[in-house]
Amino acid sequence: MTMPSLFLSHGAPTLPLTDTPARTFLREAGATLPRPRAILVVSAHWETAVPTVNAVDRNETIHDFYGFPRPLYDMRYPAPGAPDVAARVAELIKADGLACQIDTKRGLDHGAWVPLILMYPQADIPVLQLSVQPHLGPAHALRVGRAIAGLRAEGVLIIGSGSFTHDLSEFRGHDVNDPAPDWVNAFADWFDERLRDQRLADLIDYRRQAPYGAKNHPTEEHLLPLYTAMGAAGEHPRATRLHASATYSIIRMDTYAFSGANEDTRMEPAAA
Ligand code: ZN
Repeated sequence: MTMPSLFLSHGAPTLPLTDTPARTFLREAGATLPRPRAILVVSAHWETAVPTVNAVDRNETIHDFYGFPRPLYDMRYPAPGAPDVAARVAELIKADGLACQIDTKRGLDHGAWVPLILMYPQADIPVLQLSVQPHLGPAHALRVGRAIAGLRAEGVLIIGSGSFTHDLSEFRGHDVNDPAPDWVNAFADWFDERLRDQRLADLIDYRRQAPYGAKNHPTEEHLLPLYTAMGAAGEHPRATRLHASATYSIIRMDTYAFSGANEDTRMEPAAA
């Protein structure tokens, strides 16, 4: 069965340890989806010059953060890798005329394992990662997604893992469940409306058009996985918002499912 693709916000690394609406949502989200054959995570925390996919037998857990509570460093997500799917990813991306490399060592960074430990705690579904190219921007990220769209029909769940808003310069002084300020919500509302209306040209140009676009994303790596997830749903991606909340006031935790024009994804939209 054809899988939807997802964009989710992975939040701070402490997400698994902190009681938030986003954690509750992710804990329930895995069970609402058909069980995938493999999971491909496009992570904001893996930046490379050209698209790169990891191909390992079993994934190491990368604790790519500093100064967080000890229990976080004890967490492991030893999901099997998916070298066969990695080869397929590289084949599809190259067929589109882009370069693609295979990394036979890298495991899972927290952009992948933090949400997956909540969604699929048994770590028994093969997982692989695909990197982002921040220097090439949203149009490139969308193109990569379109190149790998066929994987959804092969039972692969494509997850873009980043953050709907991500101005960490405003992080200090906030409690985890503080509400978002207007400049964060204005951006999120603008983006949500254009996702619903499939205004892809506006979305690609968000830094000029969206209110506080560059303010909410001083660098783009946490938004780019959304474009790849959206591209993976084809030319006319239908967006369904599955979750909306904020953590630490400035990190919107919104999650979207994308599907093609005539597909039934069986995903329930979030209550407004
Ligand atoms: Zn992150």
